Amino acid sequence: MVDIWNDALQGLQPRLGEQTYDMWLRPIELAAIEDETLRLTAPNRFMKEWFETHYLDVVLDEIQRRTATRYAAQIELAAPRAPAPAPVPAPEPIVTQPAPPQPAILPPPPQGLSERYRFDSFIKGASNELAASAAWAVAQEPGQRFNPLFIYGGVGLGKTHLLHAVGHHIHDTRPELRIVYLSAERFMNEFIAAVRCNQFEEFRSRYRETCDVLLIDDIQFIAGRDRTMDEFFHVFNALYEAGKQIMVTADRVPADMEGMEERLTSRLNWGLVADVKSPDLETRAAILRQKAELDGLEIGDRVLLHIATLVRSNVRELEGALVRVATFAELKRAPITEAFVGEVLSDLAQPLQPQTITIEHVQKLVATHFSLRVADLKGPRRHRHVSRPRMIAMYLSRELTDASFPEIGQRFGGKDHSTVINACRRIKSMQTSEPEVRLAVEGLRRQLCPDGLAMRA
Ligand code: ADP
Ligand code: MG
Repeated sequence: MVDIWNDALQGLQPRLGEQTYDMWLRPIELAAIEDETLRLTAPNRFMKEWFETHYLDVVLDEIQRRTATRYAAQIELAAPRAPAPAPVPAPEPIVTQPAPPQPAILPPPPQGLSERYRFDSFIKGASNELAASAAWAVAQEPGQRFNPLFIYGGVGLGKTHLLHAVGHHIHDTRPELRIVYLSAERFMNEFIAAVRCNQFEEFRSRYRETCDVLLIDDIQFIAGRDRTMDEFFHVFNALYEAGKQIMVTADRVPADMEGMEERLTSRLNWGLVADVKSPDLETRAAILRQKAELDGLEIGDRVLLHIATLVRSNVRELEGALVRVATFAELKRAPITEAFVGEVLSDLAQPLQPQTITIEHVQKLVATHFSLRVADLKGPRRHRHVSRPRMIAMYLSRELTDASFPEIGQRFGGKDHSTVINACRRIKSMQTSEPEVRLAVEGLRRQLCPDGLAMRA
């Protein structure tokens, strides 16, 4: 009987690939066949749902091809292993029975987690489905399945939110686990301080020995910082070998991180690498609805949908737009209508087509982003707060429009073409050395051409 199942799965392996087979098919087991129904078991709810929506039909087709019988299937959860996994995605699971033998004193709640970033406030959609499901699986069974879990994607798409959500959930359901959450930047600073102040032993113990779950945000930050990478490598190994969960976020896949050591990028690839993309319209509207409810804003669905149509780049900007609309409405004591939204968000109102991106668009967007006036970008001030945005605007103008260097110089208040060439060079190299510059450039570029169509070589 089991053969029908195993044969079909193995028959599918070449088509689906080894990784998919190992990850999603192998954990599903056949318990019994009753009449024409396969009784299957899955190790947890997440695996069950994922298998059901993505692979069940494929497997049933394959079995039908082999046996000429169309089976139905019923999937149950396998008897839980100790400690029991958390119940259904309950927003705030209430744990009445703490899991296995507890240390006398429970570790304190993890530092630095925002109360707002929990699973129940995270809207799932096609753009983040894999990342969210994998994060949920990790939160339920830390150290068991995806280790490390690596989530990557552009700015404001929910990576940090998921990381916090995992931390909260593990803490709520397994309070005995010691969870450490921090940004890669802070990891580096702590490491440097520890070395300087002769407190390396404490540092080592905190990250390598007394940590059950390590959540690190924006790991790309340590790329190119040799000693920090080296230390992170040892931390990774120590935790991984001890079966501790590691979850990491970044703005790109490991292989694309310039300056990241090969031995680290390869380790970051060991578990599951999942991306978050820009949300589709429906997800954006759902996010707005939730945010409006959380903030107690009374805004109709049509208006929310209208905002979601105008703001397409990322969730942070979506939230920003909502706050802006709400603030203006309050200031002007105006009802929030579609027309009002259109007015308040007028600079976002025309989604830009690749061929229509102009230097003016770039200037306007860059100025807004850095809270400057377009006149500042065109003016002569050399203060860094102005000169950097100006250089970024020049760089993006060169990249996204057909304008020549002299033309760009002209449009930035009559500057020399060599100034523009210089600016482009500097921004190009700063994108490697300064993460903030890269993030700003990428965010702006995405806003100008959300579909990534307008890239010039
Ligand atoms: P990232 O770390 O990818 O730059 P964040 O996690 O900081 O992005 O998300 C930016 C903002 O958008 C946060 O306020 C976050 O709560 C919100 N957000 C992002 N994705 C979602 C989502 N799918 N559902 C609800 N809120 C989201
Ligand atoms: Mg983040």
